[in-house]
Amino acid sequence: MIVTDTNAALAGRADEALLGNYRRAPIAFTHGEGCRLWDVEGNSYLDFTGGVAVSSLGHAHPALVRAISQQAQRYLHVSNLYQLPEQIEAAERLLRLTGLSKAFFCNSGTEANEAAIKLARKHLFPRFRILVAENGFHGRTMGSLAATGNPAYHEGFQPLPQGFTMCPYNDLSGWEFTEDVCAVLVEPIQGEGGVVPGRADFLKGLQDRCREHGALLMLDEVQTGIGRCGSMFAYQKLGLDPDVVTLAKGLGGGVPVGAMLSRYDALKPGQHGCTFGGNALSCAALNAVVPEVEKLLGHVEQVGAALRASLQQLPHVTEVRGEGLLIGVDLDIEARPVEEACRARGLLVNSVRAQTLRLAPPLVVSIEEVERVVKILRSTLDQIDPPS
Ligand SMILES: *Cc1c(COP(=O)(O)O)cnc(C)c1O
Repeated sequence: MIVTDTNAALAGRADEALLGNYRRAPIAFTHGEGCRLWDVEGNSYLDFTGGVAVSSLGHAHPALVRAISQQAQRYLHVSNLYQLPEQIEAAERLLRLTGLSKAFFCNSGTEANEAAIKLARKHLFPRFRILVAENGFHGRTMGSLAATGNPAYHEGFQPLPQGFTMCPYNDLSGWEFTEDVCAVLVEPIQGEGGVVPGRADFLKGLQDRCREHGALLMLDEVQTGIGRCGSMFAYQKLGLDPDVVTLAKGLGGGVPVGAMLSRYDALKPGQHGCTFGGNALSCAALNAVVPEVEKLLGHVEQVGAALRASLQQLPHVTEVRGEGLLIGVDLDIEARPVEEACRARGLLVNSVRAQTLRLAPPLVVSIEEVERVVKILRSTLDQIDPPS
């Protein structure tokens, strides 16, 4: 398809045709390469949003392009009625990396969490309660939404599925393991909540309480997993040993693929499923992405540390949080005007909270690109209005 419309014309057509559930910036892209993107008017951008922590290998990565092109030429989809060599390979890969026992594939983070919720309930039936964290985010379908600890996302959608109890993040004293509790579902670092790291002692304490109680420790690594935080999974840096891990975002490098990995094989034929889940195309992408990410882990640590150190020095910055290349930057001013001013200067960042920017560039980002971005941010923040 050749795009002839301008950015503004496309934004107008989008307003007419698309459900108004997103706040979209008025730019559309033609193509990208690595951390760079070009819009329909020929402007170029450094992509430090990474498609919300999805574009792990950047744009048009040769290994990913080759894998999905070759797969497309053979077949895309036959369903889970048959054996899928690409899916088996993907499962073996993820199980080797986690030490877990069973993999289930789907297309998104919310579906991975729905699978985890059903698995925990089935495994420990009739125990049903799942403890979740305030300020957490697990997705937009009804079960994952009920598990999401942000009342604003619940507004107007009640009644939600029952059996979720919100407990304070980073405060173990507020987690009550009643007899009906079958699992804990938490993020090792709260991504949508503003890049808020879980403290190691808190998460380790939760794990101990789960063990004592015979409940599952389920870690939502949809955003933090697959190299984003400088280790393959964020839990590895924290020394945790989860029973269930959910993945999506960076797992297919932009091809939709989600996974739920478990210590237990608790769902029998007919009890759960996903038509597209783990199809040949998505697993070909996964099988190309994961080995590339493994090679990048040291690099992510290094450029992430350099980026965080530089961000600390910028005007209006009050705190920098995160691990690897998942970074939250608190400002003493509103983040959205900063996001817009950066975009006008060719830098894509995303305001995850009112006064917090999130940076999640492709893991292939170079130190030179990081330096360029820090310069753009500095000049943007220098010129923005002071706090009122
Ligand atoms: C993005 C996200 C989800 C939801 O993923 P979708 O693919 O949008 O359904 C769930 N959990 C966490 C931690 C996320 O960051």
